[in-house]
Parts: sequence; structure tokens; C-alpha cells
Amino acid sequence: MADVCQKVTGQNEYTVDFDNDGYNIGRLATLEYQGRKTFISFSEVEIRSRNSSFQSFPSALSRYILDENQNKEICFYFHPDTTGNWETPYFIFMYRLMRTANVNFLNANEYLRSPITSFTSPEDIILHKDQMRSRNPGNRSTYLTRGPQNQLQIFGKTYGANKYETTILCLAISEIANTDVELYEIEEGGLTKLPQTSKDAIESLGVVHIFTSNRTIERIDFEENDSLRSVQYIYNLLEKLGDKKCALCECDIPQIIQGAHIWPVADIKRENHLTQDEKLNLALDGDNGLWLCNNHHKLLDSHIIKLFEDNTVKYKSSLNESQSNYLSEITTNNRLPENIVNESMSEYIVKRNRNIPVEEYADFIN
Ligand SMILES: [Zn+2]
Repeated sequence: MADVCQKVTGQNEYTVDFDNDGYNIGRLATLEYQGRKTFISFSEVEIRSRNSSFQSFPSALSRYILDENQNKEICFYFHPDTTGNWETPYFIFMYRLMRTANVNFLNANEYLRSPITSFTSPEDIILHKDQMRSRNPGNRSTYLTRGPQNQLQIFGKTYGANKYETTILCLAISEIANTDVELYEIEEGGLTKLPQTSKDAIESLGVVHIFTSNRTIERIDFEENDSLRSVQYIYNLLEKLGDKKCALCECDIPQIIQGAHIWPVADIKRENHLTQDEKLNLALDGDNGLWLCNNHHKLLDSHIIKLFEDNTVKYKSSLNESQSNYLSEITTNNRLPENIVNESMSEYIVKRNRNIPVEEYADFIN
């Protein structure tokens, strides 16, 4: 306490009031000095997993944001008894998000080898998150990408460690976003929403708009529309395929990449022997989809190009030379990438092709 007091105010004298009310309010101390209110969140003493290490901080940050006092700051203090590895790539990523959300680290120089720097743009965060995921593909969590209107989209899970990450990510993005931000809450572990304090804090900053996604909403959308604009489906594709990148040309401009069904929703709906639940599962299945750029999506859906069971893609033989040359030029992958194909995906291709009129298709020469 003396060290914290010294670091925040330069003073050595202080009085302490304990407040043991409430649950999980963030290992939080508030310090008031000369009209300024400083919130100090202490690290967990025992650092083990992603989950246990940040369970307090988001509520501290949310309480800070919602505090009416305008003369305020928030700090993070590594507890002197802290044990464990607090310097993993994931933790550093989280510290950087915290720094981006204007958190001051009081004693980071005693615990970390390099200073914590803010992220400078949403793309900076997307890049680092992607690098972290490629090092640890099992790290299924939140996703940040851009949608067709250039809006930032956060697909945030609502349970355990993921809900802390979602909250801090939203609060950090609020500081640096240059466009609208949409947060889609992804149902997880029976929870469909972030904690109310987190939501209040996120919404109070006025940048991130929160949308809830759950099975009921998905089912209504499925029943009413053939071109399913499903949040859960996009999430499943992000989880299976990673960041948006066209499977046929490697274009990775997220604004023009769409989730394309292999077995189309309209076809699935006509399978009368299936229950509504079974149909919805097929429509949301990550194996039943590809990232495709606008061009390749349209070309596929108009059957100008066609997928085959052996994972190759071919073009309609009736195209003229300039058309087929153009398609060869833009279709750099004439088969689906090895790392995304599996048996289930091949079955969807077979089902798709049952409903496509028989025509001649030719191999790409490249
Ligand atoms: Zn493409």
C-alpha cells in the first residue's frame, strides 16, 4: 500500500478503509488525493491460466469507467506476492489492450522485460491476435474483423476467460476505433450475455454497439431468410478457417470477403425429412462453408465455377476464351486449401452438386 501510495501521489501517509461488500469487484482499491480519484487493480496472486489471471480486472475497469468523478485514473499493480508466469504472449497482449484502454501500470518495469505499449489501430490488434492464434491454434476466443461496410466487428464469447477478453477488447477498441464497432455476443456455456457492468461500461463510451446472438434469434432468421446472415455461422467460420481470406484467390481484404455456404441454406430447407433443429445445425456448421471474395462467391453461386468432391474447382466449358482466361487469372487456387478440407466438407460438396444442372466443366490450367 505504501508503495502504491508513493507511486500515485508521491506521499507516504495514507489511511485505509476496507470495503468487503459485493462479489468480484476487481481486487480494487481507490485512492483519493487532492480531488483526484485513482482506481488501483491488483494482479491475482497466483497466475495460472488465462481464466484465473484476469477475472478481476474487467470489473475494476468497468467500475472506473462508470464512476461519475471526471478527475480520475485507473492503474494496475503487480502484487508483490505474485507467482507464476505473467509474461506469456497472451498476457502481454492483454496488458497492451489494457494500456490502450488508458490503464497506467504502476510497477510493470519491475515485472516485465519490456515496456507495455498501446495498440495504435484496430488493424494493429487484428494482426497481433492473428499471430497469437497461429502460434496457439487451440486458443479459441474472440475475433476481431471488418464487415462489408468497413465496420469493425467483434465476435465475443460470454463465458470464462473469453468474457474478460471481450470486455477489455471492447474498451480498448473504443479508444482507437475510427469507424462503427459492432459487438456480437456469442452464446457460450449457457451464457448469452456479458456481465451487466461490462455492458454498461462498454455502452457508456458510445463507440461499440452490442448485438446479442443466440439460438432463438438464429432460428427465426433461418426460418425467414434463405441467405442466412448468421452471426453464429460467421463465428464458426472464423473458428475453423481463421481470419477472412478467399479460398480460391487468397484475397484477404475483409470488407469483400463473405461466408459462402457449400450446401446452400435454400437446399437444406427443402430436406423435409429433417427437423428444424437439424436443418439449423447444417446451416450453421463451419464445415459447410468457405471464405470467398465477392467475385468468387458470385461465380460459385451462379455455377460459372463449380466445386468437385476431390476438392478441385473448375469452370464452365461454355465460357469464351477471354472469360476463361480472366477466371484463370483470378483463381490462383484451383483446389481448396489442404488445411481446410475434411470429410464433412466433401459431403457438403456432394450435396450441393446434387442440385446443380449437369453441364461440362473444364480444369483451370495453372
Ligand atoms: Zn476470391
